[in-house]
Amino acid sequence: MYVEVLVEIKKIDKTFTYHSNSCDVQMGMRVLVPFGNQTLEGFVMNVNNSFQGDYEVKDIIGVIDEKPVLNEEMIELGNYMSKKYLCSKISCYQAMLPKALKAKKGTNIKEKNVVYLKLKQDFIPKNDSQKRIKDLFNSDLVLKSEANKISVSAVKTLLKNDYIEEVIKEEYRLNIDYNISNDLPDLTLEQQKVINSINFSKFTPYLLHGVTGSGKTEVYMRLISKVISQNKQVLVLVPEISLTPQFVNTFKKRFNKIALLHSALSDGEKYDEWRKIQRKEVNIVIGARSAVFAPLDNIGLIVIDEEHSQTYKQENYPMYNAIDIAINRSKKHNCPLILGTATPSIESYTRAKMGVYELLEMKKRVNNNLPKVTLIDMKDEIKKGNNVFSKILIDKINERLDKNEQVILLLNRRGYNTIVTCQNCGLTHKCPNCDIPLTYHKKNNLMKCHYCNYTTNKLYKCPNCESTKFNDLGLGTEKLEDLVNKTFEKAKTIRMDIDTTSTKSAHEKILNSFSNQEYNILIGTQMISKGLDFPKVTLVGVINGDATLNIPDFRSGERTYQLLNQVAGRAGRSDLLGEVIIQGFNIDHYSIIKASTHDYIGFYEEEMNIRKKLLYPPFYNIVLIKMQSKDENLLIKESDKIYAYLKENTNEIILGPTTSMLPKINNIYYMNIIIKYKKTNNIIKELNYLSNKYLSNNKIKVNIDFNPYHF
Ligand code: ADP
Ligand code: ZN
Ligand code: ZN
Repeated sequence: MYVEVLVEIKKIDKTFTYHSNSCDVQMGMRVLVPFGNQTLEGFVMNVNNSFQGDYEVKDIIGVIDEKPVLNEEMIELGNYMSKKYLCSKISCYQAMLPKALKAKKGTNIKEKNVVYLKLKQDFIPKNDSQKRIKDLFNSDLVLKSEANKISVSAVKTLLKNDYIEEVIKEEYRLNIDYNISNDLPDLTLEQQKVINSINFSKFTPYLLHGVTGSGKTEVYMRLISKVISQNKQVLVLVPEISLTPQFVNTFKKRFNKIALLHSALSDGEKYDEWRKIQRKEVNIVIGARSAVFAPLDNIGLIVIDEEHSQTYKQENYPMYNAIDIAINRSKKHNCPLILGTATPSIESYTRAKMGVYELLEMKKRVNNNLPKVTLIDMKDEIKKGNNVFSKILIDKINERLDKNEQVILLLNRRGYNTIVTCQNCGLTHKCPNCDIPLTYHKKNNLMKCHYCNYTTNKLYKCPNCESTKFNDLGLGTEKLEDLVNKTFEKAKTIRMDIDTTSTKSAHEKILNSFSNQEYNILIGTQMISKGLDFPKVTLVGVINGDATLNIPDFRSGERTYQLLNQVAGRAGRSDLLGEVIIQGFNIDHYSIIKASTHDYIGFYEEEMNIRKKLLYPPFYNIVLIKMQSKDENLLIKESDKIYAYLKENTNEIILGPTTSMLPKINNIYYMNIIIKYKKTNNIIKELNYLSNKYLSNNKIKVNIDFNPYHF
């Protein structure tokens, strides 16, 4: 038999033919093959009985899997991805699989086997240890490790005498503690209407635009119940599971066959969850971006919650968007796809308006109360001496603390001071690898780079002028927490940002303790803006609510609206009325004004005017050609060449080459060329040419990013 194998080298995008004596080898399995003077793993893409070429074909070394790790749908999906995103097929297949199942030599993640003992025949104990071991066998199986605790040698003897035997059982590393409850809330009219309008019998993409607190999760769950009662499966994507443990908890109360797939799991856990799905032991998969590849074979519904979230786009090669993949899969399975959010991305809402997606709306909260939002101009407050907290925010926080209610404070910057500069000569303490200001972290008295993690001591003397006086500018969450504790006597604060959530279940611990009301003020970065549902939170304060407007990115207005609307949506979700204070220096921007009146449509219209004027999506598509190298001169030279090539061979708008927003990270230099275009067909040939040309270049990397989020 002859097999076509895609080997594990990312830069090689073609298959090689090998010979196999084994009849067990099938498409989608991994095999071990000789390659040059190496041994590599690869995926079998095809199996043939004959071979036409006129060269000598080598034998495969071995077959790794008993069953294919890639099924037919996934093999096709990899083809689609590699064409759509101009990346090698092998990189697509690797992205689909958990580490344990990737074609990668040297990975050794195995199932967890637990050894039990079973009584084979009755015996008369010869000593005390044997008696105590015998007493263990009330139940059928006894953990060998338990029996060993009594006496290792006694266990050995009993095994040798054939009184007991070993039974090896596979055990899953992740156990979900289901907590099924049968009370269902009565649906609101809007929820009922949405549920009734879903067509389950064909591919239809829906955009569910429901304000925060309108009960989207309940809608998902009702739809899911219907689908699984027809013996079909459901895929649910969420931006980041660790940030929203409440979402999974809600599901655990309703369903009992769930697999979880997300980055906080260990490689062993991911491997186990994957196999639960493959073995059809679950019918719901909840996961983050890469869960879109879950090997479900009879999907009846795909749900993507918070569809506007940027986490659905992979920023590394292959730069895929999980929404594209979900559309592809729901077409294949002929089932509905639901994209839910309170703040649709501009592109998605445009598709809904054009009829590409079917628009479903829930305009009211379940409790009928959207929070009142007040905007505070900090320019006026500073004149009055209120630098961080406005008078009104101070009063409102005190009011909440007096009533034993809770407060959320958002500041989208971590660390203590975000910039430290010399008072005398103005020198800013920057990262030597990235040339970006370092952030002061008070807890361990260190300066840190938020891009490459470079860490150094705080400067006590300016290296430029030897002055010892520094300005500590900018405010981060760490300092905000200090200030809150100084300003509010009754404050019991807890902070959630990257620095406080580095350990495995840190997120859940913080959210649980806030939920139990051990704390009354939760301070955090955008991490706390999504999906949280705390009934006692009646006030949300936003510090520097206009900060995201200053990011040089055409989506900064959209991001600001989303962030403010989402975080405001955390207030007053239950019986108690909610209120929101947004502070900033530039509060008359339409993104902020429209967020303060919960006016998505108004925001959409203003934003579309600007996008149209400046030729941005959705009026034009954007592709980013991101070039990177350690050699700055080479990078500049090659970037110019690429620009000249595109200019000569296409008629589209080509911008650049310019240095990226972060021109140097970890001593690698980055440059960008942007193409604004209407039809992919007009540039695909040229992009393909570039992608292939640089695929095997070791000095300069060229990534092609369609609809990029980061520049
Ligand atoms: P969204 O995701 O739209 O922001 P959630 O799904 O988190 O909203 O729902 C908000 C709150 O309303 C949750 O506490 C949820 O349990 C509750 N809820 C949802 N639907 C109903 C309903 N029909 N009746 C009563 N409470 C509901
Ligand atoms: Zn100085
Ligand atoms: Zn750095």
